[in-house]
Amino acid sequence: MYWKKLNHIEIKEVVFNALGKNSNYWNHPILGIPGTFLDSEQFYPDAPFLKDAPYMSVMVHNPNHIGCHTLVEESVLDIFAGTQQIEVELIKLCAEQIFKGEPNGADGYVAPGGTEANIQAMWVYRNYFMKKFGAKSDEIALVYSQDSHYSMPKGGNILSLRSIILNVDENDRSIIQTDLEEKITSARENGIKYFIVVMNLSTTMFGSVDDVDRVAGYFDAQGLEFKVHIDGAYGGFIYPFTNPDSRFTFKNKYITSFTADGHKMLQSPYGTGLFLIRKGYMEYVCTDEAQYIPGKDYTICGSRSGANAISIWMILMTHGSAGWQYKMESLSDRTSRICSKLDEMGVKYFRNPFINIITIKSGYVSKQLAEKYHLVADSYEFEAQWYKIVVMPHVKQGYIDSFLMELEAERNTLFEHVV
Ligand SMILES: *Cc1c(COP(=O)(O)O)cnc(C)c1O
Repeated sequence: MYWKKLNHIEIKEVVFNALGKNSNYWNHPILGIPGTFLDSEQFYPDAPFLKDAPYMSVMVHNPNHIGCHTLVEESVLDIFAGTQQIEVELIKLCAEQIFKGEPNGADGYVAPGGTEANIQAMWVYRNYFMKKFGAKSDEIALVYSQDSHYSMPKGGNILSLRSIILNVDENDRSIIQTDLEEKITSARENGIKYFIVVMNLSTTMFGSVDDVDRVAGYFDAQGLEFKVHIDGAYGGFIYPFTNPDSRFTFKNKYITSFTADGHKMLQSPYGTGLFLIRKGYMEYVCTDEAQYIPGKDYTICGSRSGANAISIWMILMTHGSAGWQYKMESLSDRTSRICSKLDEMGVKYFRNPFINIITIKSGYVSKQLAEKYHLVADSYEFEAQWYKIVVMPHVKQGYIDSFLMELEAERNTLFEHVV
């Protein structure tokens, strides 16, 4: 994995060049578009700071990135072709460098978030099974673990797909093989023939990572029709950098698509979920009726801000691959340091070594302490079983130290009571 870091001046040049290639509403005769610049009382384009602020400038110019620009040659005809080209480069960089895909082997777009990117994948595969095999919707099932994000049941509900929810081990949060085999066997007996399998590149609650080879290998060995999507909404911008032997790449034949949120680990503004898929699949969700969009539409959302794509690209360029790797490894190191302290104290927790999440068993931390430090519980409806710490960039060593000191004090008091 390698891309070079760019300095502020270089980044500015690329972005302003791209804006220059877009038509803009101020000095081009754009008579037929149902869009315009942002309200200029509030977002005045002559604000002096804008000439040094490429992201804000793109926002104010307000280019629409509607559609999927990796697919369509015609996008050069689009009045926003300049900034759309940066999005194309961003998709290429993520697919080829971070997820090790073949040159020009992937399509994708900057979705509003991980929820849409996950549902986009389900939509593609549902239509793929319908168009390619004549599948009926009650013959297609969505398969995911009980620790998966709620966008899975949400997508199943919207797309009328049945869910098969796999149980995980109470302690190591891995999908239980016998449960997988029993549920798939029973689904087949009940007429399910096609499977959309979503594997977690880290769950939100535990930071657990599904064993994609074991699960996909089972479907493969059974000779079933299945497609695998990776939900890397959380882990997509950390795991590939902390685990050099990641199996979550396009080199893995089982994997067809990825979600990776910019607005989780990458610290880009909300509205930056990334969707990546091998070439040859986006076509299954082409909305032919979108006749007035150059190159048609292939996404769930429709209109979306070009500034979002620019923000992800700018962050990746500011750090370069080496800088981002250093940053992610540092978070992972900080997480490990907390874990060794917890080990010393005899506190039970779950942690995947490549992810910056620690989930502590609820009996080892009091509710008061958990609340004071805003640890998130696994359930607010039922009694909490787990509390998690997410070692994000704002989680500084000082805060960690005070938390650990208070935890230790709490445990010593407990111990005295027991004695
Ligand atoms: C956050 C998250 C999502 C949903 O992403 P949004 O950007 O909030 O729509 C999906 N899956 C996982 C694992 C997540 O952490």
